[in-house]
Amino acid sequence: MSKFIFIILLCLPTFVNSNGHWSYKNKNDWQQNAHYCGGNLQSPIDLWFNRSRHDQRLKPLHLVEKPSHSEVIIQNNGHSVQLNLKDRYILKKIAPLSEDYNVEQAHFHWGHSYDNRTGSEHFLDGQSYPLEMHMVTYSSLFANIGEAASNTRALAVVGILFELSDEPNQFLQPIIDALQDIPYQNGQSTIKNFNLLSLFDEKRMHRYYRYDGSLTTPACFESVIWNVLQEPLPISYDQLRAFQSLYDEHRQPLINTYRKIQPMGTRKLFRSFHAHHIHDNELKARISTTENHAQRTFFNMKIILVLATFSMMKF
Ligand SMILES: [Zn+2]
Repeated sequence: MSKFIFIILLCLPTFVNSNGHWSYKNKNDWQQNAHYCGGNLQSPIDLWFNRSRHDQRLKPLHLVEKPSHSEVIIQNNGHSVQLNLKDRYILKKIAPLSEDYNVEQAHFHWGHSYDNRTGSEHFLDGQSYPLEMHMVTYSSLFANIGEAASNTRALAVVGILFELSDEPNQFLQPIIDALQDIPYQNGQSTIKNFNLLSLFDEKRMHRYYRYDGSLTTPACFESVIWNVLQEPLPISYDQLRAFQSLYDEHRQPLINTYRKIQPMGTRKLFRSFHAHHIHDNELKARISTTENHAQRTFFNMKIILVLATFSMMKF
């Protein structure tokens, strides 16, 4: 009998976690209960310009709005804030001859008020940002996102990073205003006149990084075509604080809601743009620094090789 109880106790944590009880506080343990989280195609990653390759087949992403008059529902789900966007938008031109992808939801990842440089999941050339928004879509070949979720390339996520600015982002403000109504888990509110196209605007959708990756929360399915836009959007300090002031399922501050960078492995990183399309001077400077560093390393390796060859020669 005692043996039987012991086995039940051993099984219990697995059972609880497989029902969606995960936390950012134990993110290093996710793979114990969700084995994909330890896979080779995990997200997020650091997006290095000099390790990416331009792919001319990557056309501007095209977001189309369907006629809809209902208000958008926003919810604090204990891990993030999520906008329900079902049946409102379609993402087109993911790949040549590709099917459409239906937009399901959008949500955010952020950090902590003591460090306004961390919070994003993806990095750009070694640097994190204070907030990242994910627009989650699924292939229209599937009946719903649940059926699509674990199938290869059946999900497509568009990520957008935010950087601190003195001016508030007016397009983000309807979301910020709703946050004060949903401080605790399961809190729900509505947003009138919501417009996703003002955040994921047409011009911005031309320039993005593309790679094959995963969901960044359990079950970490490796089914995502990732598209991270190259140009961050502005957000003011007060707007950022509104995210950092929310609470999780235990009524603790809902902060540091991001997964750490995952190994790139043998994956390839593509981009839809050339270097001269980058407008951010700070980012341009970072790219040229890493480029110089890479060239120096290559030059040093050549010298070492020549010296090694020279020292092996017998006179
Ligand atoms: Zn996300």
